[in-house]
Amino acid sequence: MATSSPSTSAQPIDALIVGAGFAGMYMLHKLRGLGFNPQVVEAGSGVGGTWYWNRYPGARVDIQSLEYSFGFDEELEKEWRWSERYAPQPELLKYAEHVAERFDLKRDIRFNTRVTAAHWDDAAQVWNVTTDDGAAMRCRHLILATGCLSIPTDVTFPGLETFKGAVYRTSRWPHEGVDFSGQRVGIIGTGSSAIQSIPIIAQQAEHLTVFQRTPNYSMPAHNGPIPDADFEAWSKDPRGYRAASRDTVGGFQNEASEAMATQTAPAEIRAELERRWAWGGFRILGAFADTAVDPEANRIVQEFIAEKIRQQVADPAVAEKLTPKDHPFGTKRPCVDTGYYATFNRPNVELVDLREEPLTGFTPEGIKTSAKGYAFDAVVLATGFDAMTGAIDRIDLVGRGERRIKDHWAEGPRTYLGLMVAGFPNLFTITGPGSPSVLTNMINSIEQHVEWIADCLVSLKQRQQTSIEASEEAEAAWCRHSTEAVTPTMLPQANSWYMGANVPGKPRMFMPYAGGLNTYTEICRQVVGKGYEGFIIRQGDRVLSESRAFTSQPAPGEIPENLLPIIVGRLMAAGLMPAE
Ligand code: NAP
Repeated sequence: MATSSPSTSAQPIDALIVGAGFAGMYMLHKLRGLGFNPQVVEAGSGVGGTWYWNRYPGARVDIQSLEYSFGFDEELEKEWRWSERYAPQPELLKYAEHVAERFDLKRDIRFNTRVTAAHWDDAAQVWNVTTDDGAAMRCRHLILATGCLSIPTDVTFPGLETFKGAVYRTSRWPHEGVDFSGQRVGIIGTGSSAIQSIPIIAQQAEHLTVFQRTPNYSMPAHNGPIPDADFEAWSKDPRGYRAASRDTVGGFQNEASEAMATQTAPAEIRAELERRWAWGGFRILGAFADTAVDPEANRIVQEFIAEKIRQQVADPAVAEKLTPKDHPFGTKRPCVDTGYYATFNRPNVELVDLREEPLTGFTPEGIKTSAKGYAFDAVVLATGFDAMTGAIDRIDLVGRGERRIKDHWAEGPRTYLGLMVAGFPNLFTITGPGSPSVLTNMINSIEQHVEWIADCLVSLKQRQQTSIEASEEAEAAWCRHSTEAVTPTMLPQANSWYMGANVPGKPRMFMPYAGGLNTYTEICRQVVGKGYEGFIIRQGDRVLSESRAFTSQPAPGEIPENLLPIIVGRLMAAGLMPAE
C-alpha cells in the first residue's frame, strides 16, 4: 500500500544521503566506489557539517587531530598535515573542503536544501522524499547523516525580541565573523562552545559578562604544534595507529588504566592525575578504571579538578562558583579549553551565577536577573543542541504502515544498533541514537557505520533483495542491552544532553550506546556474520530472511574484579539481573 506521500515518477536513486558533514561525505564516496549512484542533500551552502556551522571564535576539535581525521584513504592521510594538536575550526573546514575536492564530491551534493519529509512507499519499495524547496525525490535507501549536534535548542527568553543589540548563536555564527572590539558582551551558557569562545571574546570585548547556570569540568588542551616526535611515531604506521584507536572504548588512544583509584595510594593518585593533567585534554578520563562507576573514585578526580580551578582563578569566590558540584566528573561531556579559567582573572570579565540570581529576561538594553539589569551591545547564546534526535525527528519520517518516527520515539529513541529503526525499511542513521557516537571519536564511529551500511547495501544488491528492516524484537533487545551497558555507570545521574535533559519535554533516556566502540564494532560484525541477525530482508513483499532475535554477545571485556560487585549491584537494583 502506498502511503499518502509526495511522489514522482522519476527512477528512484540508489541512495539519498542527508547531510554533507564528514559522515555524508564519506558515505557518498564509499557508495560511489561500490558502483552505486548516491546523491546528497545538504541544508548549508558548503560541506563540513559541524565545522561548517560552528564558526564561533575559539571553536576547535577536542580529540587530537591526528586521530580526528579520515583513515579510509592512505593518500589523503599522507598529503594532509595538521598544524596543531587540536585543529581550529577554519582548518577543519579547509580539510572538509579538501576531501570534497579531492574526491570530486560536490557534483552529487545539492546544497541549500533541507529534507522536510520522507515517506516509505511499500508497494514501490522506495522512499518518497520532499525538500524545503518543494522538490520531490525517490530513493531506494535513505541514509541520515544529519549529525548528533546539529539542531540548536529552541531556547528563548522573555523579551529577547525587544533587545536592541546583536544576538549571536555559537552554532549559527555569521560566516564573515564578528568583531566585538569596544563592545559590552554577554554570553549565556558554560558548555564546550562557551568555554572555547569566552577566552577569545574576552580578549576582544571591552567587557564580557558570563551567565552560568551550571559549571562544567574543563581540562587544559595544552594546544600547540604537533610535536615532531608524535607526528613521526604516527606516520610510521597510521593504519596500525587507527586500528588501535578503533579498538578502544572511546575510539581514541587515551592510555586507559585498569588501576582503581580507591585502591591506590594518595601520592600515586596525585602523580598520575598530575601527569595526565599536564598531558592535557581527555587523558585524565582514563586515569582510573573505577571513576565512571564508583562515586568514591569519582570524588577523588572531582577534588583534584576543583583544586586545579582554585589554582587558576585568583578570586576564591569566583573559583567556587566555577566548580561543578551537581554531577559526577565525566557524566556530562567534559570540556577542553585554552585559558578558560584564567580568563576570569581579567578585569573586564565578570561571572554571574544564575543559581544565585536567576535570569528573568531581556530588556531593550540587555539582560535582567532577579538581582539587577546588565547592559550589552551584543549577546551570545551558547545554549546547546537538541542532541541526537533533533535533526531526525524534525523530518516528517513515515515508515511502514504509517508509523511516524515521532510516535515511535515518544518515550525516547528506539533503534537497533543505532543503525536502523523497526518499521522504517531501508532507512539508516549514521551515528544514530543507540550507537556509541558522541561518547567516542566521531570520525572512527562514522567510518565504522559508513562501512557497515555500504557492506549491507552491497549484500542486498548482490542478492537482489529490495529491503532490510530491523525487527521489533531485535530493537527491543538492543534497547535493553543499551540500558544494561549504561546502568552500572554514573552517566545517567547528570542532567545532560546525553539524557535529553536540556530540552524541555524531551523524554529522559540515555541516548548513546555506552558499551564502547570496540565492543560495539564486534557486535555489528557478529550480526552480519549471522546473516544480518535481527533484520527482516525482503524482495518486494516476499520475506527472504528473518532472524528476529538479537543474540550477539560482546566478547566479555576485562572488567576489573573489584568493580564487579558495584556493577552487579546496580544491574540487580535496576531489575536487569535477577537478585540471588
Ligand atoms: P551544552 O554543553 O549543552 O551547553 C549549553 C549551555 O547553555 C549550558 O551551560 C546550559 O546550562 C546553558 N543554558 C541552556 N539553556 C539555558 C537557559 N535557558 N538559561 C541559562 N543557561 C542555559 O552546549 P554546547 O556548549 O554547545 O556543547 C554541546 C556539545 O557539543 C558538547 O558537549 C560537545 O560534545 C560538543 N562540542 C564539542 C566541541 C569540541 O569538540 N571542541 C565544542 C563545542 C561543542 P545548563 O547546563 O544549566 O543547562
